[in-house]
Amino acid sequence: MSNIQIPGLLAREHWQAKSHFHPLTDQEVLQLVLDKVQRFQHLNRPLVLLDLDSTLYEVAPRSLKILKEWLETSPAIPTELRTALEDLKLYQMGYSVKDTLRNIGFPVKTPEFEKIAEDIKVFWWDRFFTSNYLLHDCPYPGAVEYANALYDAGADLCYLTGRDNTRMRKGTEQNLVRDGFPYFTQGTRLIMREHAHWSDALHKTHQIQLLSNESHLVASFENEPINLVEMSKIAPQALHVFVDTVCSDTLVELGQNLYRIKGFELVRALTVQSSLNQ
Ligand SMILES: [Mg+2]
Repeated sequence: MSNIQIPGLLAREHWQAKSHFHPLTDQEVLQLVLDKVQRFQHLNRPLVLLDLDSTLYEVAPRSLKILKEWLETSPAIPTELRTALEDLKLYQMGYSVKDTLRNIGFPVKTPEFEKIAEDIKVFWWDRFFTSNYLLHDCPYPGAVEYANALYDAGADLCYLTGRDNTRMRKGTEQNLVRDGFPYFTQGTRLIMREHAHWSDALHKTHQIQLLSNESHLVASFENEPINLVEMSKIAPQALHVFVDTVCSDTLVELGQNLYRIKGFELVRALTVQSSLNQ
């Protein structure tokens, strides 16, 4: 957790603890969005924004693959750490390199471990944001089914991601098709980051402003608190859903009128209910 304190801004654990999310279950939130899509679909195809990394897709397999490759470069590291990294499991992967090292009992507290963490990060950075490694990503359980349920209910879908357009579009599109997300079909699109110097939040707030002007925005799903809060300020009429998987430690203000889910696994119950309602 960040030690920096700025009045009004909170790091992830505090942000989550102090946020007043609507007191609904995952199933109720997913149903709420689906119902809203169905309610508006006769007027105009309503729009739902879907983030990719750590929202629809689990990216830990991508990071794990890269970390194992780093280990194969034979860096000089303590034997105990090497053993722990060789045995590293998917569930131990954290949002950052330091999170992962802490998860396996090696908190980064010394210059030696600071250097190791930095070496891994540099190696990881050059690979994580490329199409070649995207094939290791896996959709979260229920994510594909829920996206299809939204689309079948009449929603336009926009995959709004901070992934770099030049380096990652090919792999991103291949995965969307491979995994069965609605894509390359009417009412779907993929918006990626065109400006490398823009932050994720700036990219997404810019895009949501444009999209709100041309579409009836119903909902957004996002795992990064700062993105969600900033987007909710621009489009307060939409349902903004925090997908509580992993997120950065970027300091962020509390949002208002936000929803939260742990994942999409309950979509199967929804699909039945949705079809019964039609
Ligand atoms: Mg994300």
